[in-house]
Amino acid sequence: MIDAHIHLEQYEPDVLEDMLAELRGQGVESLVAVSMNLGSCARTLELAGKAPELIKPAYGYHPEQPLPDEDELAALLRFIEEHAADMAAVGEIGLPYYSRAEALERGEAFETEPYIRLLDTLLGLAARLGKPVVLHAVYEDALTACDLLDKHGIRDAHFHWFKGPEEAVARMIERGYYISFTPDIVYEPEIQVLAKRYPPELVMAETDGPWPFEGPFTGRPTHPAMIRDVAAAWGALHGYSPAEAEALLSANTQRFYRLHKGTGSLE
Ligand SMILES: [Zn+2]
Repeated sequence: MIDAHIHLEQYEPDVLEDMLAELRGQGVESLVAVSMNLGSCARTLELAGKAPELIKPAYGYHPEQPLPDEDELAALLRFIEEHAADMAAVGEIGLPYYSRAEALERGEAFETEPYIRLLDTLLGLAARLGKPVVLHAVYEDALTACDLLDKHGIRDAHFHWFKGPEEAVARMIERGYYISFTPDIVYEPEIQVLAKRYPPELVMAETDGPWPFEGPFTGRPTHPAMIRDVAAAWGALHGYSPAEAEALLSANTQRFYRLHKGTGSLE
């Protein structure tokens, strides 16, 4: 299988080394390693250089953090252009749903507009490079992201760990956008409802590691092999065996990220 979204560079180096060495034996063929900002992109690039068959890098700017200054943004855009040939996607990019909610809860003002402009810039670059995009855009933010995807004519959009209103779900299905489920599909009823609703051919499995999970995963470090638990839980909701579910989700991920079967290289 392929972990469609993981923050590989956020693992401790020694933990990461052991993890990567044993992945193939655990049924994980490759990983889409997303980046948070310029420093994170550089670390992801370095990791991908060591194991290009296994690690498919994505470069972007995560929205749940302060905005980059002008110089960092210019350097990031240059970095993405320079490394486009070996990049699986532009990501993680999106809108700051949780930062905004927390700021408002504290009674502070929060300006979303600059984040929308940043996403607009990054989507413009992805469209120009002809690359898929990895989106962090949940709840009502998904509708704003859909508007921007339409504006740039982008069809290859992956809304990772998605949850949101039916209006967004219907629009995303209509456009053929992909979503991915994390290990929380095992224990979150809200996610299970979405998993039954979303077309099986537009679904992938991810861990968003090292983000920790609850339920049966409480206290366990998040490991890419947990996508096999995701596949089993998702398959059970659709009447697929775990093996059928793994095959379907892997085929979807290969198709979306343009990965060659077997060699794992980018098309
Ligand atoms: Zn993420």
